[in-house]
Amino acid sequence: MSQAEDTQTVDEDGVIESVSGPVVTAADLDARMNDVVYVGDEGLMGEVIEIEGNLTTIQVYEETSGVGPGEPVENTGEPLSVDLGPGVLDAIYDGVQRPLDVLEEKMGTAFLDRGVDAPGIDFETEWEFTPTVEAGDSVEPGDVVGEVPETESITHRVMVPPDYEGGEVTSTESGSFTVDETVVELDSDEAITMHQEWPVREARPADTKETPTIPLVSGQRILDGLFPIAKGGTAAIPGPFGSGKTVTQHQLAKWADADIVVYVGCGERGNEMTEVIEDFPELEDPQTGKPLMSRTCLIANTSNMPVAARESCIYTGITIAEYFRDMGYDVALMADSTSRWAEAMREISSRLEEMPGEEGYPAYLAASLSEFYERAGKFQLLNGDEGSVTAIGAVSPPGGDFSEPVTQNTLRIVKTFWALDADLAERRHFPSINWNESYSLYRQQLDPWFRDNVAEDWPEVRQWAIDVLDEEAELQEIVQLVGKDALPEDQQLTLEVARYLREAWLQQNAFHDVDTYCDPKKTYRMLQAIRTFNDEAFEALEAGVPVEEIQEADALPRLNRMATAEEWNEFIDELESDIESQIRSQY
Ligand code: ADP
Repeated sequence: MSQAEDTQTVDEDGVIESVSGPVVTAADLDARMNDVVYVGDEGLMGEVIEIEGNLTTIQVYEETSGVGPGEPVENTGEPLSVDLGPGVLDAIYDGVQRPLDVLEEKMGTAFLDRGVDAPGIDFETEWEFTPTVEAGDSVEPGDVVGEVPETESITHRVMVPPDYEGGEVTSTESGSFTVDETVVELDSDEAITMHQEWPVREARPADTKETPTIPLVSGQRILDGLFPIAKGGTAAIPGPFGSGKTVTQHQLAKWADADIVVYVGCGERGNEMTEVIEDFPELEDPQTGKPLMSRTCLIANTSNMPVAARESCIYTGITIAEYFRDMGYDVALMADSTSRWAEAMREISSRLEEMPGEEGYPAYLAASLSEFYERAGKFQLLNGDEGSVTAIGAVSPPGGDFSEPVTQNTLRIVKTFWALDADLAERRHFPSINWNESYSLYRQQLDPWFRDNVAEDWPEVRQWAIDVLDEEAELQEIVQLVGKDALPEDQQLTLEVARYLREAWLQQNAFHDVDTYCDPKKTYRMLQAIRTFNDEAFEALEAGVPVEEIQEADALPRLNRMATAEEWNEFIDELESDIESQIRSQY
């Protein structure tokens, strides 16, 4: 996050009055709300969050130990902004968009020192710019004026910034330029470069928000199959420690069919983020075979970094996501975990001695969360194209108790809820997403896509599976009281079908080469195979074959191997025909 070099500060410096953790109070500072300021002799980056008379309160994005009263505070007069342009992809940033690798080089250590600034994108690198407009064309804010091959897989579209006027193109350049060199000039005297700055707290403008109708295909059976999310949708993944939030987020970041992934590690333990930072650069994008990082931007604010920067990392992430949306891309943003952000809000709020709301969280918790998720959506863009931001936030409720304020407030906002379950995780049922508690409000609006692109009867087959799982949940209660053998045979059979649904279909091993990603067509065929067993078995039962005998058909255990079958089409065809002939031979 740079303050433009030309910011010659004219504002008067203030003086630190008091320091309370990440919250610093300064006197005599001429500042507006949300101005970025440099605090203390070391110039730590902070943001104005409250002004009362002569006193300005600042949340500081860097460690404040040793900073004390009397030290100066300098106002930049600019809001917290991100640098946008080629170079954002394949980058790893801290919470205020300082590239970790550049900082590491500067500091000679992986531990960030204080007061070190580095721009979010490199101002020296030259990029190959090709204009897509020519002199005489008229352009408006948001219009694409040229292209840059940013990474192996992503073409960066250079746009007229949304806060420009636009006009007629008077000249264009083609060739190698740094991000701050003019590449297109307009008759309004506006010069377009490959660099935009945007204040993180302000949503980038778009024309209209539309109803999303295309799924973000995740390759995870339980998500695509039962609880799909739309491109432009919102989802929460709440779950207690160890239930699989991180693995689920990683799976989405790796496999979801988004053009761009922005991964925000917010306040999680350093080793989890290290895993991401080490893993991701080695992974291939399954859609293109190119390195996964070439469509990814990582923002890492680990638990040992200052809490105030948790907020800035969330806003930095969503602003970068919107910027690529504006190019017409489908962007997926993962935030792990929004609870750590909420905890940061709580800490800052308590230091401000604000009136606490539920469980000590500030009264504006709900508003802040909804402001964040509101920025997701499928949009008609200023330039008439379409683009989307899908926002997926992990929530870590203490003790896994979903009634706590962060989970509850998130639930009111998001339309997809993937409830992770400690019991399932303990039983090693992964992904441990509870199918009875989870939901997706996108199902219906995505059905036409699934009918057209996967199978005409997708919604019906899914409904069948949901019904069986519901029935199982009811029957389980009885089984716990009287035992399975006391149930009538048809109900015993339903339990058997449900068991295959759970074990052969819902379970999916993120660490198995084949099983880690499941094409929706395979998801559908696997479900159909279990349904074939269901249909054949109930007919046999009706013909008088006892349940035990039906269950003994040799082919059945092969249902559990569908998930890992590479040639799944042949495997499932053969399996279905074996199930059919074996069960039919029983009567
Ligand atoms: P959390 O982030 O909720 O604390 P993790 O995502 O780190 O939990 O998951 C804890 C462990 O559960 C993982 O290390 C892994 O062993 C197992 N696990 C979670 N999801 C899966 C999955 N889809 N497939 C296989 N193992 C999983």
